[in-house]
Amino acid sequence: MKAYSVLLYYYYTHIEQPEEFREAHHQFCLDHQLKGRIIIAQEGINGTISGLKADCEAYMKHLREDERFAGIDFKVESCDAHTFQKLYVRVKPEIVHSSLQHINPNERTGIHLEPEDFKKMKDAEDVVILDVRSNYEHEVGRFKNAVTLDISHFREFPQKIKELEAFRDKKIITYCTGGIKCEKASAYLLENGFPEVYQLHGGIIKYGIEAGGEDFEGKCYVFDNRVVTDINKVNPKVIATCHVCGTVSDRMVNCANPTCNEHFPMCEDCGWKMDGACSEECKTHPEKRTYDGTGFYQKELNGYQPAMNSLNKQRNKHLSQEK
Ligand SMILES: [Zn+2]
Ligand SMILES: [Zn+2]
Repeated sequence: MKAYSVLLYYYYTHIEQPEEFREAHHQFCLDHQLKGRIIIAQEGINGTISGLKADCEAYMKHLREDERFAGIDFKVESCDAHTFQKLYVRVKPEIVHSSLQHINPNERTGIHLEPEDFKKMKDAEDVVILDVRSNYEHEVGRFKNAVTLDISHFREFPQKIKELEAFRDKKIITYCTGGIKCEKASAYLLENGFPEVYQLHGGIIKYGIEAGGEDFEGKCYVFDNRVVTDINKVNPKVIATCHVCGTVSDRMVNCANPTCNEHFPMCEDCGWKMDGACSEECKTHPEKRTYDGTGFYQKELNGYQPAMNSLNKQRNKHLSQEK
């Protein structure tokens, strides 16, 4: 049995004092040796973390016991080790960066479909399956027959719904990695007059865990150092091709040039040949990182202070008053 778990979760709920909540939450994670990324906003929480099974259990219990998070749903996968190197707990204006800050999914959102119901419905003639994720994600894996959008970030989603006009009289089912983007994407479609909008609850990950992942082609892009994860245990298929030589490959890498950092599929051979870079230009870039065969690079800290204790806060307050 694998010793670690990876959790993926989100919950739209009102958090009155996000900063205060962050402090305590961060401490709880430190006490339980959890690693990963957690975003807290007044509108809720979004996280993906890894830890020993018992620590992950304690974390889930801890959140569920707080009445604000009573209905939270966790996607739990097993793994051999931590899938993150560090812990980040940050406060942001939104739990997923979108241009849809006005939408509160607790007021209006698409109808949630559980994985088994999605599986029964997805092939019907009057159904359109809509992938709301970005290019680098749907390129390496997506549902068979899914409609994809040419976007490099979720915040571009609203500009693209014009392309969906032809599907106005169909049932639209949105999906994403863990379900969070669909909460707002499906609400936005409803807001724009699409009459029948559904969303795959818990996203691709939950569908893989609970319904076997049938008809998900390729792999699912994830935001930890696994880069991609297998979903389909029924009829798996590789759909991505190496950007350099064109052979079938779903090995996702980040370009070794940090100023490019593009995510793309590249086969093992080309990885070494290109030294982890997407182009000759990136290969010779002065800031190019050392390629270790994985194509995964730890993100920079960007001024983030992991242990912003109350003392620090006091000092910062003081400093800002002096300015
Ligand atoms: Zn190749
Ligand atoms: Zn590049």
